[in-house]
Amino acid sequence: MRQYELIDSVTSYKPDADQKLLEKAYIYGTKMHGRQLRASGDPYFSHPIEVAGILAELKLDTTTVVCALLHDTIEDTSATIKDIEKNFGKEVAKLVDGVTKLTLLEGNLESSKQAENFRKLLLASASDIRILLIKLADRLHNMRTLHYIKDQSKRKRISLETLDIYAPLAGRIGMQEIKEELEDLSFSHIEPKIRDIITERLKVSKRKKSKTVVLIDKELNKLFKDNNLNCEVSGRVKKPYSVWKKLEIQQKSLDQLSDIFGFRICVETVSQCYQVLGILHGKWQAIPGRFKDYISTPKKNGYQSIHTTIIGPKNQRVEVQIRTLKMNEMCERGLAAHWVYKDQDDIGNDYLASIEWINDLVDILNRDGATEEFLENTKLELFLDQIYCFTPKGTLVALPRDATALDFAYAVHTDLGNFCSSVKINGADKRRRTKLQNGDEVEVVKSKTPVALESLQEFVKTGKAKSAIIRSIKEKQTHNQRLIGKAIIKSVFSSHRKKPTRDILERSFGPLKVNSLAKLYKLVGDGSASGSKVYDLVFPNNNRKKRIKNYIDENISIPIMGLYSDMPAKFADNTFLVPGDKIVGIIIPDNGITIFPVSSDELLAYEKSPESWIKLDWKKNIEFTFVARIIVTLINEVGVLNSITSTIADYGGNISNLILNEKDSDFYNLIIDINVNDNKHISDIVDSLEGLPVLESVKRFIG
Ligand code: MN
Repeated sequence: MRQYELIDSVTSYKPDADQKLLEKAYIYGTKMHGRQLRASGDPYFSHPIEVAGILAELKLDTTTVVCALLHDTIEDTSATIKDIEKNFGKEVAKLVDGVTKLTLLEGNLESSKQAENFRKLLLASASDIRILLIKLADRLHNMRTLHYIKDQSKRKRISLETLDIYAPLAGRIGMQEIKEELEDLSFSHIEPKIRDIITERLKVSKRKKSKTVVLIDKELNKLFKDNNLNCEVSGRVKKPYSVWKKLEIQQKSLDQLSDIFGFRICVETVSQCYQVLGILHGKWQAIPGRFKDYISTPKKNGYQSIHTTIIGPKNQRVEVQIRTLKMNEMCERGLAAHWVYKDQDDIGNDYLASIEWINDLVDILNRDGATEEFLENTKLELFLDQIYCFTPKGTLVALPRDATALDFAYAVHTDLGNFCSSVKINGADKRRRTKLQNGDEVEVVKSKTPVALESLQEFVKTGKAKSAIIRSIKEKQTHNQRLIGKAIIKSVFSSHRKKPTRDILERSFGPLKVNSLAKLYKLVGDGSASGSKVYDLVFPNNNRKKRIKNYIDENISIPIMGLYSDMPAKFADNTFLVPGDKIVGIIIPDNGITIFPVSSDELLAYEKSPESWIKLDWKKNIEFTFVARIIVTLINEVGVLNSITSTIADYGGNISNLILNEKDSDFYNLIIDINVNDNKHISDIVDSLEGLPVLESVKRFIG
């Protein structure tokens, strides 16, 4: 194709096209591709010209045609995106960049199993529908010239890729003609012999049928003329590939298929379509079950037509498709056609809306008037709800939008998620919570041990990752509780110079209703049973010193002076007061006296009613222990717990509850409730714990 031919082609449908820009792109492309040659021996630039020609045939806008001329310059010549932008403007540069990116993605495809996802990736990556159209035209021309490539396996590979990816993609955006041509070209390289046989048979059967075809054609035309209908009647030519597919699907031989005649009838309006249908069914018998109305209910890709099969003249089965001329053009050229019709009212938004994924485009279309503006704003927001990323080996992983690298790891394998310590995205170190983009290559860095996932729970999007994290946290919690339980038991026993051997501990199984050491440890670790209780159960007649009672356990009056005997009293909720702590009482009407630590923030509420305050003090020589709560942050190391529990035991503290509140992989928080005599007792314990190197911090929680 020559320069002037291309320009003639564009100006034939767009008289005001920017010819200068087309010429400039033509010259730029010629210069940049220089002496590069195609496999055919032609100058390389013949390829972009032909691609531009295909797009001009589809009547696309000048920008698209210009981009087609430049589409291989970034990938194959010294040109840069900046050069393109400088010479041809931002829009052209953006499209050329988009095409180049799609080309680069192609290299990543691993196998045809991934085809569906890869098609979606291409759709989603093309930020502008024109990028996709250029890519399809590019592939179409490469397929038309594929026979020049000598390497047979390469031809087959490219053909399979075309069949898997590009033909369905063309079908998806409604470009039936391009789809069929891509299929047939691929077929000719993948199964050349079968295709030859089918082509030959089609020729023979066409000759055999030609008399009948002429007859049917004549009858149909006469019929419509009698009814004053202006119709275009055409016999349908079957493509070898579609015949082959039909043979495969229906397990039939060629002869069984060849007796069917196909006709297409095109009219002006939708109502005429139904008129034609009425006339046909009135004249000839319709075969039941073969009637399909894709006009009132279009196919997902927007296809519209009426299909019916009748017993025609001479008792032949005749397949008939009835549609308007516009539907026909839409069917053949798909999305490309709808720009041409955009200005005409009757193309119908219903039609466009019927293509599910085009809804976004329709929105834009409804908002904007001008075609140019429409093109510019046509972001291809397809499959907005999904993204597609690669493993380093090229496997494509589909994820919901906003999914993170951790979701990716879980999508590949649950273990990969549980052991994912960090990630590399496109080669760069990133956080696990990083949101992924289409086409990202994600490498998961595995740790040797399961990682802490608590802080990441809110950063995953997929159900798989969420439930796996919850499961993993639970398992780890149980594991930690067992460790803690074991440490508590050990420390209690060692304070009585006893060893908690399996034989000894088994004696507590019955009373505690457990059947294994693991369950016993868990019971103590989650606070359901104390270490002392286990000790008392296995040594019922122990000679350990008589334990003092704990205030909480006993139903006794509060050992505090200053309370009124006629008024109920209680400690404020969520306080952990022990004798010696500074306290104050607040009289709450109808509620008695509530005892607060003097440091409590809640006291602020009573500042303005001094009459409610009463002075309180602990009694002397209290015989009960009280529960003090401490919060420790410690380095996450096995064995740390032992030193904590034994330190507490050394000071005569009795751990009554231990709650693990894990933070991240390096540190965790532990809430420890200890039975102590008074505030000096708990201060001594806190002081000695502060001396442990494994502790990051320790503080008392009073309330
Ligand atoms: Mn190309």
